[in-house]
Amino acid sequence: MSEPLWLIPLFFFAIAMGFFLGRREGKRRQRRRMASLSQEYVAGLNFLLNEEPDKAVEALLSSLEVSPQTLETHLSMARLFRKRGEFDRATLIHSHLLESGDLPRPTQEQIQLELAEDYFAGGLFDRAEEVLLEMLDQDCEQREQVTRQLMKLYEQERDWPNAIAMGERLIKGDAKIAPILAQYCCEEAEGQVARGELGPARRTLRRALGFDKECVRASVDLGRLEMREQSWEAAIAAFRRIWDQDRDFFDEYLDDLRQCYEQLEQEEDFIRVLADYSAEDPSTARVLLLSGQLKERYGDREAAKFIAEYMQANPSVRGLDRLIDMNLQVADQSEAREQLELLKQLTQRLMSDRTIYQCRRCGFTTPLLQWRCPSCRRWGTIKPRSEGDAKS
Ligand SMILES: [Zn+2]
Repeated sequence: MSEPLWLIPLFFFAIAMGFFLGRREGKRRQRRRMASLSQEYVAGLNFLLNEEPDKAVEALLSSLEVSPQTLETHLSMARLFRKRGEFDRATLIHSHLLESGDLPRPTQEQIQLELAEDYFAGGLFDRAEEVLLEMLDQDCEQREQVTRQLMKLYEQERDWPNAIAMGERLIKGDAKIAPILAQYCCEEAEGQVARGELGPARRTLRRALGFDKECVRASVDLGRLEMREQSWEAAIAAFRRIWDQDRDFFDEYLDDLRQCYEQLEQEEDFIRVLADYSAEDPSTARVLLLSGQLKERYGDREAAKFIAEYMQANPSVRGLDRLIDMNLQVADQSEAREQLELLKQLTQRLMSDRTIYQCRRCGFTTPLLQWRCPSCRRWGTIKPRSEGDAKS
C-alpha cells in the first residue's frame, strides 16, 4: 500500500514540471499538451489506485519528455527506485532515457553507467558487464570510471584474472590500487593451490609481491606452499620476509617457522633467529617461545628466570600467565600453589576476553585473521593488535 502512496507526490511534481514547460510554448501547443498531460495523469492515477505501479511509471515516463530540463528528474527518480531495491523500474527509466536519443555524449555515458549500476545492484552481473564492455568498445570518454566499475564487478564475481587485468589499466594513474591487485593475486593463488596447481600458484604469489612488496599475505601463502612442497629453506625465507614487511604479523607464523627449522634439524639456528629478533624488537610471543626452547635444554628454573627478567621490563598478561605456569611446576608449598592457581585463573580469563585482530580503518574486531575487512570491505586493513593495544 505504501508504494502507490509514495508515487503520488512524484506525479504531482511531474505534472508541475509539465505545466512549467508548457507555459514556455505557444498557447495552442500548451492547450494540446495540457490535454495530453491530464489524460496521462488520469491514466497514471488510475494505475496507482489499482496498485499497478509499473504501468504508472510508464504513464509518467510518456508524460514527461526527455529534455535537458527534465533529465535530472528522470535520473533522481531512477536513483530512488534503485535505492528502494526496485531495480526493474530503475532499469526501465534508464533504458527509456537512452532510447530517447539526442543526448550529448557525456550525458549518455553517465546514463549507461547508471544502467550498469542498476544491473550490478540487482545481481545481474552479466548484463552490467555487457553495458560496460560495450562502453569500452565504443572508446568512451569516461574510460577510467568504466574500468573501475568493471574491476569492482569482476571482484564481486571472484573472477580474479579479469579483475587484475582491469586493475593493471588503472595502476599508472592510481598507485594505491597496487596492494589491492596483490590481494587479488593471493585470492587467485589460493584457488590454484586448492586445484593442486602449485607451480602457477607460486608464480601468481610472486606476481603479488611484484605489485606490492609489502604484501604479508603473499609471504604467508608462499611459505605455506613451500612447506607443502617440503622446500623448507624456501619456506623459511618466505616467513622471515614478514619480519621486514610488517613485524606485527611475524609472531602469527612463529609456529610454521619452528616446524621448518625442525624439519631441517636446525633448532639451534631457530633459537638464534628468535634471540636476534627479540633483541632487536622484543615481543611476548617470541620471548615465550625462546624460553620454551631454553627450558627443553636447560630446565624450568633457567627458563623461569629468563622470563621473570624479561617481564620486569615488559609486563603483559600472556607473559605473566606463562611465568605462573613455570612457577606452578616448581612450587612445593600448598599455600603458594593455591595463590598461583588463583592468579592463573585470572590471567586465563583476561586472555580469553581479548579480541586479537582489528581493522585499522573502521575499528572492526575479530578473533580470526581475515585479509578483507567484513565491515568496511577494504583489503589488507585487519592486523593483529599490538601488545601496546592489548595492554590498554
Ligand atoms: Zn574495516
